[in-house]
Order: sequence, then C-alpha cells, then structure tokens
Amino acid sequence: MIIGVPKEIKNNENRVALTPAGAQELIKRGHTVYVETNAGEGSGFSNEEYLKAGAQMIDKAAEVFSLAEMIMKVKEPIEQEYKLIKKDQLVFTYFHFASYEPLTKAMITSGAICLAYETVERVDGSLPLLIPMSEVAGRMSIQEGAKYLEKPLKGRGILLGGVPGVKPAKVLILGGGVVGTNAAKIAAGMGADVTIMDLNLNRLRYLDDVMPKNVHTMVSNEYAIREMVKDHDLIIGGVLVPGAKAPKLITKDMLKTMRPGTVLVDVAVDQGGCIETCRPTTHEDPTYIIDDVVHYCVANMPGAVPYTSTLALTNATLPYAIKLANQGWKKACQESLELRNGLNVMFGDVVYKGVSDAFNLPY
Ligand code: NAD
Repeated sequence: MIIGVPKEIKNNENRVALTPAGAQELIKRGHTVYVETNAGEGSGFSNEEYLKAGAQMIDKAAEVFSLAEMIMKVKEPIEQEYKLIKKDQLVFTYFHFASYEPLTKAMITSGAICLAYETVERVDGSLPLLIPMSEVAGRMSIQEGAKYLEKPLKGRGILLGGVPGVKPAKVLILGGGVVGTNAAKIAAGMGADVTIMDLNLNRLRYLDDVMPKNVHTMVSNEYAIREMVKDHDLIIGGVLVPGAKAPKLITKDMLKTMRPGTVLVDVAVDQGGCIETCRPTTHEDPTYIIDDVVHYCVANMPGAVPYTSTLALTNATLPYAIKLANQGWKKACQESLELRNGLNVMFGDVVYKGVSDAFNLPY
C-alpha cells in the first residue's frame, strides 16, 4: 500500500502521525511511505531519519495526498486539506466529527473512507487510541500543577513533596480513570499526599491495591468534594462520562472556600470541564485566576510535549496501520471489530451513529 504522511498544519500542532521507526516497520512489509518534508520536525525527527528508514520525502502536501492510498495524520483535516482528500482514499486520524459539522460535510463530499482514531473501540469499551493521550495529559497535569503552585506563578508557594520536617502538599484527583491514575502516580512519586475520588467502587478497590501508601481513595459525591477542596493545594479534574458533557463537580461557590493560590487543572476541559469556572485556554496563555484560585484549562495538553506524545500515539496506532496496509481496509475492518468501530464516514455516507445523531444525518 502507498501511505502518505503530511505535515500537520493545525495551529500549534507539532506531532506527526508516523515516526521513522514506524515508517521502517511499514516499509519492511513491502509498503511505500511518503512523508512531507519537515513533517517530523516539531517532534524532533529529521528528514534524514525518515530517509534512512526508507521513506521518501515530498515537498508538497498536495502531492502526498494525491499519491497515497492511506493518509495517516494526527489532527482532523482542516479546511485547506479538505480538497486534497480523494474519493476512495483511506484517512486514518483523529476526526472528532460530532464536534464540527463542516468537517463532517466535507468528508461526506470527498467520498473518502474516514477511520477515526477516537472511535476505534475494543469489546470491553476501552479506546486504545485515546488512552495514550490521557496518559500524557494525566502525567503532565501534576508537572503543570506543581509549577503553578510556585509563588511567582500565583500559586500557594508550596512544594509538592515538602521536605523533612515540613508536610507535603495535598493533591485531590477527581476521576480515577486513565488521566487520574497517571496523575496519581506522578504526584505520589513526588511525595505529595494524594486522594483519588471516583464513583466506581471497583476502580477504587483496584487503585487502593496498586497505589503506594501516600495515595488514598474516596467515593465521589458533592458533600465530600465540598469538604476536600477546602484544604487541598492542587486539584485535578479527570472525570469522563462517555458521550456526555463532564459533570460540574466543583461549583463556583466552592472557590471561595479554597485557600488563595490553590491550583485547579481541569484536564476534562475538552468535554466541557468538571469545574464550573473552567474555560478552555492555550499553551500560550494557560492560566487565569478567579477568587485567587489559579485555573489551568489547556484543551490540548499533549501538544506541549510533542516528542513524547508522537511516540505514545504512534506506538498505539502502528499495529492498526500495519493491519490496514497489509490487508487493505476492507478485509482489516471485516476481521477486526476494533477497526470497524473506527469507521465514521465512507463513500459519502455517515456510518457512525454518534455522528449522524449529532447533525441529524442519515445513518
Ligand atoms: P476515563 O474514562 O479513563 O476515566 C474517567 C473516570 O471518571 C472514570 O473512572 C469514571 O468512573 C470517573 N467519573 C465519572 N463521573 C465521576 C464523578 N461524578 N466523580 C468522580 N469520578 C467520576 O477517562 P480519561 O481517559 O481518564 O479522560 C478523562 C478526561 O480527560 C476526558 O474528558 C478526556 O477527554 C480528557 N483528556 C483531556 C486532555 C487534554 O489535553 N486536556 C487530554 C487527554 C484526555
């Protein structure tokens, strides 16, 4: 199969859909890989590394799109890419169709086969191509939180791990899923006193089993959250109710009960946020302050660490890309329910219920 990897052109997107190592894996199985010149630059992969792996570099995005049978990307196509996508071409990337109608319409018009990373789903309901980004964001949430707890950045001026003779900071994590677990690991490793709250008792039992002694678990409810926020230094929002907006677990009035300089990191901002006062921010201007409480609500946290994020994403996507390339999308999707779940739009039709529901389109 001929695989094309264009450079991402969305604002501040530094990831790339295939590493030189991934390109080599495809090429050694007999496939051809075209990579747009400098596509890997933002993630730290040079053109020479791709060439050494056997890929061919192409200067123009339009040519990559026109030659490829399968396009591998990271972000959804943006307007200037719509017209480059061909009928019958397989496009394997994050689409998030339900959140943007013009993209959905454009892909319907293109006649392409759109296989969305975010809906590739295992029988147990897990989303293998979303997990790596939650891992990155969860770990990063503590790194960012620790930074904004510093006084010059308007935090309480407390060190997460404390020092001998001085108590560590208290970290509260809402949601014990992928984000929450990864946040807890890092916070615990830095010596903080950590509490994870979740609704799912079995999940809390598991976390209690595997986490170190400085991580405690607690059932999530409004009463308990209201008490906890009063004396916690760093609060991470990592809840998810699949297919719905995040519940507002921290309400505006709770801010007044927090100590000045408390830091809130709402990782769930991409689903509307679980903190009532959350509004999306960017890496250029990540924080704002309400009632002396620092809010960090960056919607694409993994974008700040493109080297790690690219490797984490491609580790997860490559086995699927190899299957698609070896067998062709039709056979691969027939054999694999996970991949079949990823099909959202094909040959001008919407084939994913969530997308048809979002815009009242035939399904
Ligand atoms: P997950 O499904 O693994 O975990 C979510 C957890 O929230 C579950 O354990 C669930 O039981 C729990 N939960 C649901 N309602 C709750 C409540 N009322 N109180 C406490 N816990 C509750 O999801 P995840 O992969 O950890 O993702 C969490 C959020 O982070 C999602 O919204 C995801 O989109 C977002 N995310 C954001 C970024 C970013 O850059 N901002 C990056 C990755 C993921």
